[in-house]
Amino acid sequence: MGGRRGLSWILVLAGTLGLRLFGALRGGKRPPAVAVCSICGHCGPPRRHLPGSARVERLLWLPLLLPGLLYRLWRLSGSRRVCAACGAAHLVPPDSELGQRLSRGRTPR
Ligand SMILES: [Zn+2]
Repeated sequence: MGGRRGLSWILVLAGTLGLRLFGALRGGKRPPAVAVCSICGHCGPPRRHLPGSARVERLLWLPLLLPGLLYRLWRLSGSRRVCAACGAAHLVPPDSELGQRLSRGRTPR
C-alpha cells in the first residue's frame, strides 16, 4: 500500500515536470510581456486564465494520476491571456496602432 502511494507521487512529479517541459516547448513563440487592454485601457503584463476550477483539479489529482492529468491538459489547452485589471481577453500589443492609441487616450488616475 505504502509503495503504491509512493509510486503515485513519483508519477505526479513526473507528470508535472512533463507538463512544464511541454509548456516550455509550446512556448516557442513567446507572447509580448506587456499588452494593452482594449476594454479598460490597462497597459501591463497580462495574466494567464485557465478554464475550469483549480479545486476540481486538486480533487482529481488525489485518487489517481490519469483524471488529474487529463483535466490539467484540458485546462492548459484552453488557457488564454487576459487583462490583469479587468480580466477581459481583448488584448493588443502596445506597439500596434490600436495599442498606441489606447495608451495615449488612457485617462491618468
Ligand atoms: Zn482590462
